[in-house]
Amino acid sequence: MRRGTNLGRLGDFNQAVIFESIRRAKDGISRVELAESTGLSPQTISNVVRRLIDDSLIREDRTIVSGPGKPRTVLELEADRLFSIGIDLDPGVITAVMMNLRGDVVAIRRIETPDLGVPEETISLMADAVEELITEAGQPRERIVGVGVAAPGPLDPREGVITGPPLLDGWRNVEIVKPLGARLGLRVILEKDTIAAALAELWSGDHDGEGRNFVCVYFGAGVGVGTVLGGEVLRGVSNNAGEIGHYSVGRDSINCACGRTGCLAAAIGFDNVARKAEAAGIPLDVPATPTVAERAMGMNRLVDLARDGNAAALELLGECSRNVADMVAQLVNALDVDTVIMGGPVWARVNDFCLDQVNEIVNERFTAKAIHGISVLNSALGENNAAIGGACAVLDTTLSPKASALLLR
Ligand SMILES: [Zn+2]
Repeated sequence: MRRGTNLGRLGDFNQAVIFESIRRAKDGISRVELAESTGLSPQTISNVVRRLIDDSLIREDRTIVSGPGKPRTVLELEADRLFSIGIDLDPGVITAVMMNLRGDVVAIRRIETPDLGVPEETISLMADAVEELITEAGQPRERIVGVGVAAPGPLDPREGVITGPPLLDGWRNVEIVKPLGARLGLRVILEKDTIAAALAELWSGDHDGEGRNFVCVYFGAGVGVGTVLGGEVLRGVSNNAGEIGHYSVGRDSINCACGRTGCLAAAIGFDNVARKAEAAGIPLDVPATPTVAERAMGMNRLVDLARDGNAAALELLGECSRNVADMVAQLVNALDVDTVIMGGPVWARVNDFCLDQVNEIVNERFTAKAIHGISVLNSALGENNAAIGGACAVLDTTLSPKASALLLR
């Protein structure tokens, strides 16, 4: 059943809409332009702008004269008024970024092939990275809105618990929000990595997100998608939407950890890749039962070989990206989006030799191609997209206008 509108929240919603418009206007925006673009009355604009100036979130920047009438005052974002921090817990690399209100990354830390054997120690490593970011940025702690951790699913954001991602050995029902929050004295939230990546893509770019329809593919140690329909991120019932790892690629010879055969996650997973590499005579120097870190190192080695022009390594990575493209093509047909954004730590290193074939496969298999094509792009945020998404998730819960926020609960 549809729920009514909570009028008490309408003011906040309008404020969020206006702030979002100012945030996205790279060269500033006047009150008149805000009234035109938001459809709100000049009186509402004026009241909200006054509140935002009082909170130092925006400033009156300069006056411009254009044509007859009163000169217009340009409103500018105070980009460094608030910051948020995002951490991407990928099994192959932990990335932490500090971001301002504009979405600019002001500091970054990367821990390659981290030791993930003991979750408590990894959480401690993440806390240290956050402290280093804060020190490096030289900003007072009270300007930091919070920390958003992007992690592989399944997870329970409400409880702040990672419930058991297949690629993180030993991470079963691990509390992350409470211990990290206690250690840092900051608000911490948990978000699925693919949803975080989709949020980052929505936040970045000049145009506002309204009406955008895209899937954003996260290709790290595992694979998943974030989906944006009509400008809003698809979350699902438990905030775990985006699992495509267990769609079958139709090869029964590959066993998956889920107990079935032929899953995409298993096809592009390290164990299968390592077996094929060995058969093709590609030396990955990885023990028979590798740890999470050793699997990541093996994958990095394969990517390095491909980058050096090793034909067998190139072919093996090409096969992985073809498998991903097949799945993405099915998804694009199911959802009728017009854009596919490819990102994640592994993709960032293979995109220059894999993008064309993904583009080709997706467009070739798209059934409505007589009506529109699909743009297949590399994420402009590269390997940092999920970390930036973690930071966006924090700001999103604080600042962004969402229709759902208006509904009575
Ligand atoms: Zn499976």
